[in-house]
Parts: sequence; C-alpha cells; structure tokens
Amino acid sequence: MRKGNLNVELEIPSYEKSVSEFISTPTGTFRAGDLIVDKNGVRIISQNEDEPPNLIRLSDNQLTLADMDIIKVIGKGNGGVVHLVQHKWTGQFFALKVIQVNIPEPNRRQIAQELKINQSAQSPYVVVCYQSFYDNGFISIVLEYMDGGSLADFLKKVQTIPEKYLAAICKQVLMGLLYIHHDKHIIHRDLKPSNLLINHTGAVKITDFGVSAILESTSDQANTLIGTYNYMSPERIRGGKHGPKSDIWSLGLVLLECATGKFPYSPPEEGGWVNCFELMETIVNQPPPCAPSDRFSPEFCSFISACLQKDPNHRHSARKLMEHPFISMYEDSNVDFAAYFNKAGSPLATF
Ligand code: ATP
Ligand code: MG
Repeated sequence: MRKGNLNVELEIPSYEKSVSEFISTPTGTFRAGDLIVDKNGVRIISQNEDEPPNLIRLSDNQLTLADMDIIKVIGKGNGGVVHLVQHKWTGQFFALKVIQVNIPEPNRRQIAQELKINQSAQSPYVVVCYQSFYDNGFISIVLEYMDGGSLADFLKKVQTIPEKYLAAICKQVLMGLLYIHHDKHIIHRDLKPSNLLINHTGAVKITDFGVSAILESTSDQANTLIGTYNYMSPERIRGGKHGPKSDIWSLGLVLLECATGKFPYSPPEEGGWVNCFELMETIVNQPPPCAPSDRFSPEFCSFISACLQKDPNHRHSARKLMEHPFISMYEDSNVDFAAYFNKAGSPLATF
C-alpha cells in the first residue's frame, strides 16, 4: 500500500473530523483539494511524487444528510424546495431537493426504481444525482449544484436569447436527450425551462427526469402537474401512447419561448387562460406554433417546425435533430456561451 493511504483510513474512523484537522495530520500527505465527493461517497485524491494522481476510496459510507450544512433556499417548485447545501468535509456545494410525498405502500417500489434510474444516469449533459433518500414522507435528492440556476431564471433576466446562443444550448440539450432516449431508453416527460440548468462554464444540463413520474404516482400530488401541461405534447394530452418524441415537442416549445421571450401559445382572451383545459384543447386542436420567418433564420424556423409536428411520426428524433443545419450553423463563429451567460446572468453562489 502506498505511503499515506493507511494513515488516512486510520485517521478517520468516523465522519467527525473536520477538514482542517484532517489537513494537519502528521502525514502531511493530503490537502483540502484532495478530497472529493462523488457517487461512491467521499474520496481522496492522492498525489504521490512518483505516481500520477490517483483516486482512493476513503469510505464505503455514502453521503448522508448529516454531512451537509444547509446554506439557503435556492428554488421552489410545485413539488418541493431546493436548498444550496455544503458538504462539511470537502466544502463542495450541492443542491438538495426535498419533495414531500404521500406514497402508498404499493408505489414505493416504483419510486425506488425511478430514483435508481436518476442515480444511474451518467452524462455530462444530465445533472448528476448523487444520492436519494426516502424518510418519513420526504424524498431528498442530492444533486449536482448548477450555479447559474435554470434556463427559466436566466430567461427572466435576458428576456430573449439570440439564435447563436440558442444553438449552443440546443446542442447540449439534444446530447442529453440522446443519452436519455437512446442509451437509457427513458422519456423525460417534464422538459421545460426550469428543468434545464446552467453553470458558469456554460454547461447546460437536463434535470428532474423521473421526478414527474414520482409525483404522478403519488395520489395526492395530482395538482403538482399543473404548470407542466404547457410543454406537454398533443399525443400525451390526448392520453394516448407517448414516447421519446414527446420530449422533442417540449424542446421545440422551450426553444421558441427562449427565442421570442414569450410562451408560444397565447390565450384567446386578455387576462390569460381560463383554466389548463383551455390551453390543452388549443394544443390538441390548433395548428402548432412556428418561428416567425421575418425574425429568425430559415434554419431555426425549420428546426422548430421539425420539433413541433403534432403527429409524433412526423417529428424528428434527437438523433436526427443533431444533424439539422441549425445545430452546426454557428459552429464557426466562436460563440462563447459561457461568457454570454456570465455577463448576462449572475451565478447564484460562488465558489
Ligand atoms: P416544478 O416543480 O413545476 O417542476 P421547478 O422545476 O422550477 O418547477 P424544482 O425542480 O423544485 O421546481 O426547482 C426549483 C428551482 O430550483 C429551479 O427553477 C432552479 O432555479 C433551482 N434548482 C433546482 N435544481 C437545482 C440544481 N441542481 N442546482 C441549482 N439550482 C437548482
Ligand atoms: Mg425542476
């Protein structure tokens, strides 16, 4: 065993030692930045002089809520509250989502399954779910912290997003959907601006897949889906079979909303939609929205139309959309989404 490893394992019999105590161990081998948290729990990066940096598992214990300091509330959704939390040992930030549920016994197994799917997702385009717990009516999910918040938050600041940045966002979302649809064989079911999260590096990642299924399966949470009807595909509203193409419909609406600054369906009368059924009826019975050709490039208009086909058989898949000219048309123009994002938005918390 390499020098230092044994010392560390002996030095930390429980989670009670603080990082500073840990740093001043007589071995002097490890520094604060050497500790990381990942899906396997807390680990040490060992820097041995004659060997490349190596990851050594510190403990088989998984993350627990007792290891986290709650910093503040960073968001609220229909289903629950999201906190910024900090890991006590490593200083690493996480988002902790807490959802109150009333889960009938037969549904618990399905929920455990959904949470497992969430946790097993591994893609740079999907928000990492580190750990989830069910305790006494609350589901807590430890998520990768995205310091730019959601696309919905960002859109409120900038009103509209120029096409060249939308192409950069869209490409990342499509990569995430490719992973979810083609590698994991699941449907997101709740793609919308608040479920696309951004960070200061300009990364855009999909979050909350599986969560809508959890909420749907808990009997007293029927109302939690109200905000979600907006981005629902016509076939899903009709209650028929729906597949991954339903997420593509939602993507089309999200992009069009970001481009124009307005949700693409407007209510027939002033004062808004009378109820969600009126909007649902419009989505099912009226022609789909499209991007105005006098304000946007033909490529963008064609991309939106490829997403917003009412018949899912005519709608493109994520794989096909990756080849659409809109995705590559700004590639040579040095689009720096990170700079645009950092200038226009302000990160929620800094490291
Ligand atoms: P709904 O409950 O209708 O789905 P929502 O998606 O906004 O709405 P939540 O998923 O609870 O609800 O998220 C609430 C807000 O918390 C988000 O809009 C976002 O601003 C913030 N948030 C969620 N997850 C994270 C995260 N991993 N990192 C940073 N901020 C997050
Ligand atoms: Mg969400």
